[in-house]
Amino acid sequence: MFEVFVVFAILIGGYVLSLKLNPWVLCSNCKNKPKIKGWVAGHAHHVCPRCKGTGQQLRFGRRFIFGEPTKR
Ligand SMILES: [Zn+2]
Repeated sequence: MFEVFVVFAILIGGYVLSLKLNPWVLCSNCKNKPKIKGWVAGHAHHVCPRCKGTGQQLRFGRRFIFGEPTKR
């Protein structure tokens, strides 16, 4: 049973480390195209409300373990 524990510890450690190093993923709503064109006026756009115009969103889990990073 000890081997199973070691494997789990490595997997969780790797996941936490990856959350620390790479906290951002592409926004699932706009896919890094946060300036969404209007339907009526083609030259007008609005900013994606989910990522607030950054095109990226915080990974699930990051907020719970480390909180929001200060820099994007
Ligand atoms: Zn977005």
